[in-house]
Amino acid sequence: MGLSDIKTRIESEENRAGRSVGGVQLIAVSKMQPDENVVFVLEQGHRVFGENRVQEAAGKWPGFREQYEGIELHLIGPLQSNKVRQALELFDVIHTLDRPKLAQAIARLAEELGHCPSLFIQVNTGEEEQKAGVLPSEADGFIAVCRDLGLPVCGLMCIPPADEEAALHFALLGKIAKRNGLTQLSMGMSGDFERAVALGATHVRVGSAIFGARDQS
Ligand SMILES: *Cc1c(COP(=O)(O)O)cnc(C)c1O
Repeated sequence: MGLSDIKTRIESEENRAGRSVGGVQLIAVSKMQPDENVVFVLEQGHRVFGENRVQEAAGKWPGFREQYEGIELHLIGPLQSNKVRQALELFDVIHTLDRPKLAQAIARLAEELGHCPSLFIQVNTGEEEQKAGVLPSEADGFIAVCRDLGLPVCGLMCIPPADEEAALHFALLGKIAKRNGLTQLSMGMSGDFERAVALGATHVRVGSAIFGARDQS
């Protein structure tokens, strides 16, 4: 495993699926990784990273940005309304827009700050109670709400249920995106990113397969 191995596997899947090679963005998910692991991947020239907590990202990425040019940081975890300002200052892309209150807060602060990250709307494709995301049946309406607010929505994101065939969820996400004219799909993690690429992912979020197992403490 490791960065170059994952890149190779993404490219061969792009090939197999008849997609243009290099089109899929690899987001290296660095949450809970020690700094030396992140530096190791930065030193290999990779610049696109994902974090799932605003607080953790605020502690490590401003420093890395000073040392390395061209970093693109993605928020892939839940966003509380009271952390929106901090998130807008830290992240280039947010993958977890999932409710009207959050959409309003982002719109208001984006206007105040004069810039807004690109946004993915998270869809709870498995309709799991404990999971964030809009329900599939409410996705079209919520996308329209976000567009009315003038938000730069670029695509959809999902995290399939752990015990189900991920492909069904990837296909459903693609269908909802297509009927809403959205071209980007954030889907696929360490265990299923090749399947996601085959089903049209434009962004895969890969952590442990690049960095090794996370520190759980
Ligand atoms: C942690 C996380 C990932 C990466 O998970 P791995 O299995 O380590 O690749 C991807 N997406 C989200 C939303 C995550 O929280």
